[in-house]
Amino acid sequence: MIPQAVDYKRAGSVSEAISLLAENPDAKILAGGHSLIPAMKLRLNSPSLLIDIARIAELRFITAGDGAVAIGAASTHNDIISNADIQSRFLAMVEAGELIGDTQVRNMGTLGGSIAHADPSADWPGVLLALNATVKVEGAGGTREIAAADFFTGFFSTALEEGEIVTEIHIPNPVAGANSSYQKFLQPASRFAIVGCAVAVVITDGVISEAKVAFNGVSGEGAFLDEAVSTALLGKAATLETIEAAVAGAAEGIDINEDHYASKVYRKHLAKVYAKRALVAACEL
Ligand SMILES: Cc1cc2nc3c(=O)[nH]c(=O)nc-3n(C[C@H](O)[C@H](O)[C@H](O)COP(=O)(O)OP(=O)(O)OC[C@H]3O[C@@H](n4cnc5c(N)ncnc54)[C@H](O)[C@@H]3O)c2cc1C
Repeated sequence: MIPQAVDYKRAGSVSEAISLLAENPDAKILAGGHSLIPAMKLRLNSPSLLIDIARIAELRFITAGDGAVAIGAASTHNDIISNADIQSRFLAMVEAGELIGDTQVRNMGTLGGSIAHADPSADWPGVLLALNATVKVEGAGGTREIAAADFFTGFFSTALEEGEIVTEIHIPNPVAGANSSYQKFLQPASRFAIVGCAVAVVITDGVISEAKVAFNGVSGEGAFLDEAVSTALLGKAATLETIEAAVAGAAEGIDINEDHYASKVYRKHLAKVYAKRALVAACEL
């Protein structure tokens, strides 16, 4: 490998990182580096400056509030899966985080980096969609809060604008009867999702009163909420029959990805299988 020339600055605060970004429009934020550095090695990215945010303390926290759990963007995958408030509220996050890469990736990679990168096969985007998360971003113009459903806009694309960084992710606290699960069919070397399914349900008196089913890895365009499957579950008894009927329509009308790991037909089949597994787990059947 012939390395490219790049400058490096470690930001001490969010405001310093934002100022450095404003002064250097072709700079890139560096968090865990587990997507950006491989991309730079492949010359898919050639920033003139790396602005390291990994050690900014105000970006690395997990706080359980009355309405939501707030997660700082520089929290690592391991910070998330080992946090007691996450463990007691969002099983899907623990199941997803534990299946990301290997120990080194989980210790270095961050939630903010993963969602800003928006790899269609990454695990967190599907989980954030199912859990109805909000992404807080900050730039020279101020802060914005963006629903996860509006944040992911396509193939490696997000609603982040030039000069903005992700600062926090908010996940609403579960209501009574809520549960969630994440199940994936993984690529055995990288452990990225060939098909990943995140579900969040609320069961009231044995009936599914709320449901969100999201996929990553299925569409080359990125993670998406499967409205048809989610709607098919609503108002129905939380039974195997209900789940099997609902997942029969999984990934319908979606432009399904095809690569050397899985054909379109096989991915669509896996989408039904993994949606069923995630729903059976979340409904505790
Ligand atoms: C071997 C290997 C296996 C992996 N397996 C999986 C897997 O199974 N599942 C999975 O989901 N992921 C997997 N990953 C990806 C891993 O989770 C990355 O850590 C993650 O995608 C990016 O996070 P990062 O902190 O490393 O970001 P970086 O690589 O530092 O940055 C990624 C991109 O996001 C931008 N960025 C970073 N932080 C912010 C921020 N706060 N605001 C705005 N922009 C920001 C950067 O500028 C860059 O463009 C794997 C990676 C490797 C190397």
